[in-house]
This record gives sequence, C-alpha cells and structure tokens, in this order.
Amino acid sequence: MEQGAYRGFAVEAIAETLWPTRCALCDRPGKVLCDDCARTLDFIDYWQACPRCGAPWGRIQCDHCATDALLHDLTPRLCLGALRYTDRTATLIKTFKDKGEQRLAANLAALVARCAPPSWPVWAQCVTFVTATKSARRRRGFDHMELVANELSRIWGVPCERLLAPPRAKDQRALGRLGRLSNMGDRFRVDGTPAAHRAIVIDDVLTTGATMDDACRALEAAGCACRSLVVARV
Ligand SMILES: [Zn+2]
Ligand SMILES: [Zn+2]
Repeated sequence: MEQGAYRGFAVEAIAETLWPTRCALCDRPGKVLCDDCARTLDFIDYWQACPRCGAPWGRIQCDHCATDALLHDLTPRLCLGALRYTDRTATLIKTFKDKGEQRLAANLAALVARCAPPSWPVWAQCVTFVTATKSARRRRGFDHMELVANELSRIWGVPCERLLAPPRAKDQRALGRLGRLSNMGDRFRVDGTPAAHRAIVIDDVLTTGATMDDACRALEAAGCACRSLVVARV
C-alpha cells in the first residue's frame, strides 16, 4: 500500500472507531442505512402510482395531475418517484444533504434507479440533475444531487452531465406553495448546447413540480427531451 493510501486508510479507521457509522434512520451501528431500514422505507407502490406524475395513489385517478390544472400544466413529462415524503424519508434526505452524510448518495441513487422502468436507462443519453443554488452549495460544501447523479450514472452506465447552471431565484424551502409557484419561471439556464438529446433529470423532493418543470423547460428549449426521477414525492 502506498504511504498516502495507507495514511488515508488509517485516518478512516480512526474516524470509524471514534464516530462509528450509524444508520441514518435507526442509529444502529454498521451502515449509513441498515438493511432493515432499507427494506422498510416508505416506497411508492409502482402499481398504485400515477403513471404520468408519479403521485403515490394516482393510478386510476390522480389527485395531482387530473384535478390540479396548474400541476397538470407543470408536469407534461413523465416523472416517477421512489418514496412517499414521510418523516422517515425527510430524515433520510436531511441526513444526506444537510448533515453531510455523503455516503447516502449511493443509497439514494439505488432507490431512484429501482423506480425507473428498465427502458429508461436505454432511452437516456445522459443523467443530469437539478442543480443547487450557489448559496446552498456553499452552505453544504457539495451539490447533493450531483453526487446522486454520479452514482446513478455508475449504476446504469449512462454518462452524467452537469447541464444546468445553478438556479437564480432564492431557495424554495422557506416558501409556501403559492410562494414557490410565484418564485418559478426562468430560473434555470443551460450552459451551451447539450450533446445529449435525451436526459433523465433527477431531484430529491418533488412538491409542486415547479422546480422540476423549470429545469426541464430549460433543457427542452436547448433541444434535450426529459424524463424525471425524484427520491421523494410529497
Ligand atoms: Zn436502520
Ligand atoms: Zn398524476
């Protein structure tokens, strides 16, 4: 083992002794997400979900895109989600992006990969992601969805491309539904002309659909068709 690699290994071993890896959900030592918790996440049942917008119970009649004219407009593309947005799901995502447990990126990528139909990775020419605002990136020290997109790219063998520049408007988290909708529009910009013509766009949580819609609109205007996947659906 080279000296540098050995030192890295030793630092990791010491860190693991002082702060053992614990499950983000049940605190059991061992893995960032233990097998029991990974098995019992709040999965969206594909057969019960809306085939268009991914709403958890919308297979026959979707409350989100059938009755909500605004959302109907906002989600003209296919969007599927892996988990229902419950307290446990929120904890998982928070531990990843706000507490900096970057190793969860691999778990979240496996979740979104699992909810996509097998034809999607064949259709896609690249995986891309909804970029974080500059301030969120500065606060966290990383662009959380970029990490998930890189992992998804590895799982599927489809290249990962950063196509979207960071959004211009402020962070959506402090805003209510109406605030989010009025905060939308033209927030994303595509840098240059994407080489890919078909992209799978990923994000962590889909609430109103406004952010994803903005991102996809910008990509489509640049000649790139989109399908989207999210870790969680409100
Ligand atoms: Zn656990
Ligand atoms: Zn729907």
